[in-house]
Amino acid sequence: MTKKTIYLDHAATTAVDKKVLQEMMPYFSDKYGNASSLHYFGQEASQAVEKARIQVAKYFNANLNEIIFTSGATESNNLVIKGVVKAYYKKEKKKPHIITTAFEHHCVLNAVKNLEKENLVEATFINPKKDGVISVADIKNAIKSNTILISVMYVNNEIGTVQPIAEIGKIIQKNNPKIIFHTDATQAVNYFDCNVEKLGVDLLSMSAHKIYGPKGVGVLYIKKGLIIAKIQDGGAQEFGLRAGTINTSGIVGLGSAISMIKDQRTTNNEKIKKLRDYLIAKVLKEIPDSRLNGSKIKRSPNNVNVNFSRVEGESLLMMLSSEGIFASTGSACSSGSLSPSHVLLSLGLKPEETHGSLRLTLGKNTTKKEVDYAVKVIKRSVEKLRKVSGSVLKDYYKNMKHKA
Ligand code: PMP
Repeated sequence: MTKKTIYLDHAATTAVDKKVLQEMMPYFSDKYGNASSLHYFGQEASQAVEKARIQVAKYFNANLNEIIFTSGATESNNLVIKGVVKAYYKKEKKKPHIITTAFEHHCVLNAVKNLEKENLVEATFINPKKDGVISVADIKNAIKSNTILISVMYVNNEIGTVQPIAEIGKIIQKNNPKIIFHTDATQAVNYFDCNVEKLGVDLLSMSAHKIYGPKGVGVLYIKKGLIIAKIQDGGAQEFGLRAGTINTSGIVGLGSAISMIKDQRTTNNEKIKKLRDYLIAKVLKEIPDSRLNGSKIKRSPNNVNVNFSRVEGESLLMMLSSEGIFASTGSACSSGSLSPSHVLLSLGLKPEETHGSLRLTLGKNTTKKEVDYAVKVIKRSVEKLRKVSGSVLKDYYKNMKHKA
């Protein structure tokens, strides 16, 4: 690996902020009590967890008993989808209906799809419009008499587009207040207002490692009065909803990270947004046949997702990595076969139009110098790949057609 490294994959994860780490440190080897223990050591840990609960509740404008700590957004989202359905079946027999979007993170999408396969729910997956934004009318029109849950992500993790959560929340509250409304706010917490009252959500999920906190810890906000069933058996931690020994150090880090956003959001947003627009303009101007995926306006301040025609995304990614530039692609590479991104397909793109996509996500410490250097290397790499990839890609798509 070359010495110079430029990290442009902040939507995948962020570094734990030094101040956050400092606050976490005592809870590994010194104050290591189990927060459920009644002795002093346990109570010391429990107090740290409760302090973090206050910090998190403040950020979301929630009550303390509405905040459940989990292992991250994957767990929170699974608890939402499965917990809501399980609670419903305790009272009702008729098959319920769930509305979600076609470009949710797989932890929502597959949870719904699996329940559908098991014949436990009916589901509608709403496609976004071409610009990567879900239409409020499409959600409204999909509501049926047996709809019990609507789950729409706040910011899409791949293309960074921002969804009209507050508008959807208003419509539900006005017309169908019994329908439960959930948002996966994992990619939004750093940049957008997550006041649950203003959003009109009943449930909200997030992960700490996207906001300069540690990995393996997250939150589920559950509106007071809403009953969802636990999906994991064990102890009675987290109001009986999430069994398992409490991750004290992680939760302390989460609380610290979330309270830092509140202080820094305005300045960080401005700076990152400026740099994002600079990066978009530079790429589109300097690299021919490049296109931005998703709306330029309704977009997270840190997300750039560009498509380079006649380029294979994974090859580009590996070339960039060998030069110390760490980014991400829209396609998932599993067991040696490339499958087009479900997010890009949901925008109406053809499989061959999705493959040259590159996601660059900026962070609070990304500099203009880094962006300039990254564009220089991307441009050079795209040119190189285009020279060699024409025939390879042709063969690949021919093969795909045979398989289809
Ligand atoms: N939802 C979204 C929108 C995400 O971006 C991610 C992480 N990529 C998750 C859920 C899952 O988060 P985790 O892996 O921390 O559980």
